[in-house]
Amino acid sequence: MCAMPPAPPSAKPPSPQQLALRKLGLRSDWDLALHIPLRYEDETRLTALADARDGSTVQFEATVTHAEVSLGGRRQLRVTVDDGTDTCVLRFLVFYPAQQKALAVGQRVRVRGELRGGLWGREMVHPTVRPAGGPLPTALTPVYPSSAGLAQAYLRKAVSTALARVAPPGQTRLTDTVSAEFLNEIGAYRMMDMGSSLWFLHHPTPSVSVAELEDRTHPAWTRLKAEELLAQQLSQLVARRERLRFAAPSLGTGAFPGPAAELPQALLAALPFGLTNAQQRVVAELATDLARTVPMHRLLQGDVGAGKTVVAALAACVCMQAGWQCALMAPTEILATQHFAKLVAWLEPLLAPRGLGVAWLIGSQKKKERTAMLAQVASGEAGLVVGTHALIQDSVVFARLGLAIIDEQHRFGVAQRLALRGKLAGELTEPHLLMMTATPIPRTLAMSYYADLDVSTLDELPPGRTPIVTKVVSDERREEVMARIGAQVAQGRQVYWVCPLIDEQAEGAVVPDDGSLLLQHSGRGGKGAGKEAQLLRNVTATHAELCEALPGVNVALLHSRLPTADKQAVMDAFVSGQVSVLVSTTVIEVGVDVPNASLMVIEHAERFGLSQLHQLRGRVGRGAAASACVLLYTVPLSPHGRERLKAMAQTADGFEIARIDLALRGPGEFLGARQSGDALLRFADLETDADLLAWAQRTAPRLLDGHPDLARQHMHRWLGGKSDYLKA
Ligand code: ADP
Ligand code: MG
Repeated sequence: MCAMPPAPPSAKPPSPQQLALRKLGLRSDWDLALHIPLRYEDETRLTALADARDGSTVQFEATVTHAEVSLGGRRQLRVTVDDGTDTCVLRFLVFYPAQQKALAVGQRVRVRGELRGGLWGREMVHPTVRPAGGPLPTALTPVYPSSAGLAQAYLRKAVSTALARVAPPGQTRLTDTVSAEFLNEIGAYRMMDMGSSLWFLHHPTPSVSVAELEDRTHPAWTRLKAEELLAQQLSQLVARRERLRFAAPSLGTGAFPGPAAELPQALLAALPFGLTNAQQRVVAELATDLARTVPMHRLLQGDVGAGKTVVAALAACVCMQAGWQCALMAPTEILATQHFAKLVAWLEPLLAPRGLGVAWLIGSQKKKERTAMLAQVASGEAGLVVGTHALIQDSVVFARLGLAIIDEQHRFGVAQRLALRGKLAGELTEPHLLMMTATPIPRTLAMSYYADLDVSTLDELPPGRTPIVTKVVSDERREEVMARIGAQVAQGRQVYWVCPLIDEQAEGAVVPDDGSLLLQHSGRGGKGAGKEAQLLRNVTATHAELCEALPGVNVALLHSRLPTADKQAVMDAFVSGQVSVLVSTTVIEVGVDVPNASLMVIEHAERFGLSQLHQLRGRVGRGAAASACVLLYTVPLSPHGRERLKAMAQTADGFEIARIDLALRGPGEFLGARQSGDALLRFADLETDADLLAWAQRTAPRLLDGHPDLARQHMHRWLGGKSDYLKA
C-alpha cells in the first residue's frame, strides 16, 4: 500500500544512503512524504550581477572569460565570469578535472552562491555551477533535515519519488483520508487537501508568503497539523476501545454510597470530616466506573492537599464490599508506610469484624513478615494491600484483585504502572485501575497525550486551610530564616528544611532522592562512597548548622540512604511531634502529611522545577495554622531564575504552575516515561493549535465509526509502526 516496493530476493545490501535514511526514521513512502523541509532556496529566478547586492545569495548566467589554477599561496581554481552587466570571480579550493572542463573559457554557466565584495572585485567561494540555458525550476528548492552521509540531492530525489507514489500529481484527492464533511467545521478555507498540501510544502511556489510558511499558518500547514492531531486522537481512541474487549469484575451498584454499601458508609461515618463537594463528585464518578464490567482506566488529579487519599480509601471500600481485593502502590517507602498507617487506622476497625485486614509490602521488609503478608494476600484475607514496587513482584499473588490504585503515578514508569493489571488471573480480564497525581496535567496535554484515560479532578481544597505565604529570600539572610524557625518551634509548630542533592560533577545538577542514585553510587567504600558523601554534603552540613543555631530544639536528618528502620524512626518522631525541625532531601516530596508543620524552607530553590517546588510547598498548609514557604536562593540569581521564583510566590494554583512549567519546559517533562520521543507531536503545537486539537478530538470517533477503513489508513500513514507505545 504505502510501503516501499519490496526488495527483490537477491537484493544487494542497503546502500549507505539507504541506511542513513533509515537512521532518520524514513522507511516508508509516507515517512518520506511527511519529512517536511527545514527551509527553502529560491532557484526560480536569474538576477543580473549589476542588480545583486553583496552578501546576498543570487543566481545568474554568465560566460567564462578567464580561468587559472593559481599556485601562489594555497592552490585554487580561479574563474572569472561575465554576464554582460558585471564580472565576478569564482574560487574553488577543492576541484576536479571535470569541473575545470565545465569552467573552461567560453563556457556558458548558471551559477548560484553568496556574493561577496573581495579585494579584486566581487567573488563567490564554492558556488553551485550548472550548464546555462536549462529551464528554471518553478518552485522553491527544499532543504531537508538531514544527517552526515546523506546529500540533499539524494534526499530530494527520494522524497520526490515517494511523494509521487503516495500523492500522484493531478490525483491529489486520493491522498485524503479526511473528507470535506469533517473539514468544513474548522473552516475549509483554512485548509488545502492533503495531496496539494504535501506538494506545496515540499515545492512551494515562489510567490508564497515566507512568514506563513515559517510560523506554520499557511493552509497547507493547517492541514498537516490537523491530520497529525487526528492520527493521535484516533490511535488513543483505538487503544481505549481495545480495552473494552477486556472484562473486569463489577464492583458495587454504581451508586454511592449505595443501599447495601455498609463498608463505604461506615468509613464515611467514622471520618473526622465530611467530604468536599469535589470529593463527593469524584467518588461518585469512581463508583459508576467500578460497577461496570469493563476495566476502569481513570486518572484522578488534584492539587497537593486536595484529599486524594480518602477518595482512594472509599474506592477501596466499594471494592472490598463487593468481595474483591484492592492494591495501593506508592513510589517511596515513606509514603507507603504513611498510607498504611492512615488506612489501618481508618479501616481496620471496620474490616476486623469481617475477617479482613490491611497488609503491606515494602522492599526492606523482614523475610518472616513478608512471608506472612504474602500468605494473607494469596488467601484473600488481606482486603487491602499497601506497598511500594514490592507489590508488583512475581511472588505477589492476589486471590482476587478487583482494583489497583497507583498514587503519584508520574513517579512510576509505564511498565510499573501497568504491571498491577496482570495480577488478576484469567485471560482478557483485568482489575480496575485508578491512577492519582498531584502534578496537574494541563488541559491541552490531557486532551492529547492522555486521551486514552478518563480524568477526574479534585478542584477544591478541604475547608479551613489558610493559604501558604511564599517568600523568595536570598541565602545571605539565612540567619533571619533560622530565627524565624526558632519562633515557630516556640509556638509548638513544626518545620521542614529541604536541601537538594547536588551533583557538582554533573554541572551542579539536582538529583532526585528516590534512593536510586545514591544506591547506584554506594558500593562498598571506595569511589562510590566518596560520591555519596559528596551528594549528601549539602543536607548533612545544613543539619549540623541548624543543630548549632537552634540549641534545645530537636532537629532530625532524613535522606534515602538511612537504614529503613532509622528512616521510619525519624518520620515517626516527626509525625508525633517529638522532632520539631526535619532537615531532609526530596524524599519527602510526595504525599507526606503532617498537618502541624507550618513552615517549609527550600534551599537552592532556583535549582528545582516549578512543579516540584509546588509539591514540596504542599507539605505545609495542611492544618489550620497560617503556613509559610521560604524559597532560599543562592546569589547571583539570573533574571530568568528570579522570574520563575517570583511566579512561584505569586501563584498558589497547581494548574497555573503546571501551565507555566509546560510553557517553559515542554511536554516531555510531564510525560516522563509515558511515551517515547517518537510519539511526540512533530508539527502541531498544543497551545497554538488548541482549536485543531478540539476538532481532532470531536472528529476521531466519527471517522472511526463512519469510515473505519479510512481511519486505519490514516493511522498507518501517520504512525506506521510507532503506535506500539499505545498498547503499553
Ligand atoms: P493529597 O491529595 O495531597 O494526597 P491528602 O489525601 O494527603 O492529600 O489529604 C490532605 C489532608 O487533608 C489529610 O490530612 C486529610 O486527612 C485531610 N482531608 C482530606 N479530605 C478532607 C476534607 N474533606 N475535610 C477536611 N480534611 C480533609
Ligand atoms: Mg497524596
